[in-house]
Formats: sequence, structure tokens, C-alpha cells
Amino acid sequence: MRLTEKEGEALLLAQDPIALGREADVVRRARYGNRTTFIVDRNINYTNICRNECSFCAFYRRLDAADAYLLSYEEILEKARETVEAGGTQLMIQGGLHPELGLAYYEEMLRRLKREFPMLTIHSFTATEILYFAEKAGLSVEETLKRLQAAGLDSLPGGGAEILVDRIRKRIAPKKIMTDDWLRIMKTAHTIGMESTATMVIGFGETMADRIEHMEKVRRLQDETGGFRAFITWTFQPGHTELGGEKTSSWDYLTTLALTRLYLDNIAHIQGSWVTQGERIGQLTLGFGADDLGSVMLEENVVKAAGTRYEMSIQKMVRLIQGAGREAAQRDTEYRVLKTFSERRE
Ligand code: SF4
Repeated sequence: MRLTEKEGEALLLAQDPIALGREADVVRRARYGNRTTFIVDRNINYTNICRNECSFCAFYRRLDAADAYLLSYEEILEKARETVEAGGTQLMIQGGLHPELGLAYYEEMLRRLKREFPMLTIHSFTATEILYFAEKAGLSVEETLKRLQAAGLDSLPGGGAEILVDRIRKRIAPKKIMTDDWLRIMKTAHTIGMESTATMVIGFGETMADRIEHMEKVRRLQDETGGFRAFITWTFQPGHTELGGEKTSSWDYLTTLALTRLYLDNIAHIQGSWVTQGERIGQLTLGFGADDLGSVMLEENVVKAAGTRYEMSIQKMVRLIQGAGREAAQRDTEYRVLKTFSERRE
């Protein structure tokens, strides 16, 4: 039986991660047994120039800032080359909303990447960027996505969702897209055969009912399209941001993570976040419903800008997974297993 919104909220309010985690782990185990996956990829943040100036973001710079940057195509291609050499299979290209770039810039970037590195999956651009590209080009979201798809865009990451409750969005990021736009862009992408992930960021001072509202919106859209491959919960990183405040606790994070496994019964993969939690809590997520530990990122700049910096290597990732008694497997963007790692006993 599906959890109702009321039941979900009550479970979050109870803040009992141990009980919830046990239930979430039973559901996970029934689907994935002993296997935990991860991917090797690289984030390429092509520019930090952004006109949105969200109060929770430590990454963006104004156009005239001394440390504002825009990568050249050559620099982007070089990063892609390094990704292939390091065994990576995916690029996650994301940036700010640069006022001087048009759709042609992104199409050309994608074409060049696909031409030189057809083996890389391009899982890139948030819904916020997609809407901005569309508005600047005077095109519909569907036309914009089709143009990017034709140029080489494979799938969309779920970033930009934060909390899908406009009351909170208006407080933390009034210039960013609102809930209906995020959902509309995801729906359009799914309709043209472009799958995506979904994210939720907690710790903005939202209520438990707000978190459930977010999950409910994602669950409903998934019932319609089936296009979300995974759900990822992050915690707001307040360092160096205008919004500031305290990080939410690991207790709260694990409670919420376990609930996402139970509530989102129609989304296959639940990802644990070592990037915002560090490797120890990242490892613990495997007992709280997560079947995937995300990415061994060869480069990450957004969370790092907020002063949170955890390093990960393939060896470390495999050790973490095996240390939790699981079998580690490297996957691709579509969650197909590429390689498994047998346990080494010292
Ligand atoms: S969160 Fe995204 S849209 Fe908002 S300021 Fe940062 S880069 Fe820009």
C-alpha cells in the first residue's frame, strides 16, 4: 500500500531513522539484493556567471566580478578527454545563467563533445538553465530540448528543484524557476524520450509537510511519465551563502532519505549523498534505503564553493561499499552495470 501524504508527514515528524531505515532497507534489498552502484563522472561548470543571485548559492558571480569565468570550448574538451582517460562515462555540464550566451553556444558545445567523445553520456543542464535557454532563444521548452537533444544532450539531472513549494522558493531564490516550470520541463523532457533524475534539497527551514508536498509532486509526475531514473536528497550547504544558517542534522537527513525510499515507490533508484554528507554518513545511507552512492566526481565546484569538500576515488568508493557488506558495481547513466569489484580480504 502506498503511503499517503498524511502518513509520510507523520513519519518525518517522528524523526525515527532507525525504524524507517529498517523498512527502507527491506524494500531496497528486495529490489537490489546485495548490490550497490556508483558512477564515474565529471562535473563541468562552464561558467559561474549567473544573473539569478540565489541567496542559498555560494557558486555564482556577477558578470564583472574578478573571479567570474567562462570556459572555452577547448578547456571543456580537455576536461572531457581527462574524464575518458580516468575511466569516466558521464559528463554533468552545468553553469550559471550567463546573460551573453545563446542556444547556439550550447548546441555547438554539445556537438563538439559528441564528435570527439561519443562514448561519454551527456547528462547535463538543470531545468533552470533549460528555461533560460528557451526564453533567450524565443522557443518553446520542447523545441529547445529537441534542439539540444539533436546536438547531443542525452539526459537531464534533477537540479534546480530544491523544494517544490513556491512559498519557500520565493524566499530563497525569487528569480529562479518556480515549481510548475520545473515539473513542466521534466515532463516535456520525458515526453520526448529524455529521461532525468529528481532531487530535493532540505534544510531551508521548510516544514515536513513541504517535503512531502515535494515528494508527492514528483511521485505524481512519475506515475504519468515514468521518466525519473533516480531521486537524490541533498542538504543545504550554508557556508559562504547570503542565506546562511545551520546545516540540518545527519539524523534528519537519514530520516528523510529512508522516507524517500518508502514514499517514492515508483522511482527505481535512491541515491545516498557522500558529497554533502561526507563518506561516513554516505556509507550509512546504504542501510537507510540507498542502492546507489552517486558519483566518483573527478571535479565538483558548487558544493565546494560553500566550503564543503569531500574527496572520493574509485578505490575509496569500493572500500566504502564493501565495508557495508555490499557488492560494489560501477554503472553507467542508465544504471546498467559496467563492472563489479570482488572483495579483497587482507
Ligand atoms: S543556484 Fe543556479 S540559478 Fe541560482 S545563483 Fe546559483 S548558479 Fe545561479
